[in-house]
Amino acid sequence: MDFVNDVIARKRDGHELTAEQMEAFVHGVVDGSVPDYQASALLMAMVLRGLSDAETVAMARAMVTSGKTLDLSVLRRPVLDKHSSGGVGDKVTLVLAPLVASCGAVFGKMSGRGLGHTGGTLDKLESVPGFRVRLPQGDFLRQLERIGVAVVSQSERIVPADRILYALRDVTATVECDGLIAASIMAKKVATGTHAVVLDLKVGRGAFLRDLGHARKVGRLCRVIGEEFGRATTCLYTAMDTPLGRAVGNRLEVEEAWEVLTGGGPDDVREVTLAVAAALLPLADLGLDAAAARRRAEAALADGRAAEHFERWMYVQGGRWRPGEYHRLAGEEVKAPRAGFVADVDARLVGRAAQLAGAGRRTVDDRVDPAAGVLLRRVVGEPCEAGEVLATVFARDPSRRRQAATLLQQAFSVADEAPPPASRVLASDG
Ligand code: URA
Repeated sequence: MDFVNDVIARKRDGHELTAEQMEAFVHGVVDGSVPDYQASALLMAMVLRGLSDAETVAMARAMVTSGKTLDLSVLRRPVLDKHSSGGVGDKVTLVLAPLVASCGAVFGKMSGRGLGHTGGTLDKLESVPGFRVRLPQGDFLRQLERIGVAVVSQSERIVPADRILYALRDVTATVECDGLIAASIMAKKVATGTHAVVLDLKVGRGAFLRDLGHARKVGRLCRVIGEEFGRATTCLYTAMDTPLGRAVGNRLEVEEAWEVLTGGGPDDVREVTLAVAAALLPLADLGLDAAAARRRAEAALADGRAAEHFERWMYVQGGRWRPGEYHRLAGEEVKAPRAGFVADVDARLVGRAAQLAGAGRRTVDDRVDPAAGVLLRRVVGEPCEAGEVLATVFARDPSRRRQAATLLQQAFSVADEAPPPASRVLASDG
């Protein structure tokens, strides 16, 4: 197409594209009139030249209008949403969703599946037998009305452009464009109709945003898009150099989320969840400021309301939730090479070990094993004796289990002294 050729040349030469050009490109990708090779060339020009704020908004708009959008206004209440840019052991949504609902707000989320070394919320939820992630739209709305919480899979018809463009970006080294990343994240949030969103942008070697400066640039663009569409958008930046909590893998993470919901569990999971809740609840219609929101969320974790809400949520969405009742896979232990303190646990390596064990996908068609994954017995700052168990990897297949254990061993560093304690929450905007 001559038109697309001209658009590619304009971008290549550093000119700004108009909203019409952006729309013609994105819609052409979806209807098949723009072939992959032209789309890839334009994506590469965008990576090399960058996108202006106006182009980023235009890209997001074109993506939103590439498919169906959901109207949640029938609920007559703001629907809150949270999105994580992807981390290892990130089970925050599992705790946050019922927690926010138990505090009186409405939490509705359309979620994606995990790909690569990070896990997806849908896979975690499906590790509870019977849990239904595919709900017709009417059921999604009724469930939100009835119990204030629903997490479902995103319909294929919502932002179809993202699926096509993301798959192309993945294989043409064109993921790394801040405007494309922000448009991809926010188009899905806008199209699913939620009113306010907290983005938990993960930062560090276990995340795809490696440093805080870069994450804040992406966060700013997400907020620009949110503002344009009238969606309150707050960004939290949280550390992802080491896994969040101790469990990595679908059912293992649900079990750990349950521990947090019942007032225990790892401090860092609780810290991030409460930070997100304190940012999110003030965006509801409850008249809470951040301090009051945090107090209410802490109380709901302490007095069992959040856990009770989790049980109701599981029941209503079909899940047969019995804590601790799942099929255990054989485990292989990783031991400390010497005495000292755990100085580091590399989230990327732990994520890859869990993926190899069967907890994650290498391609979109892979099936995940709900019980596979990694349990960290020691985390950063904790002491260990020589030969003490640092972690266990659970996998069905013995050879994969051994390979995963080798990776897991490499993830740990032991030193003479414990590193200073570090907060997971690095910054927030908005
Ligand atoms: N997450 C998304 O949803 N899209 C991107 O482009 C990158 C991360």
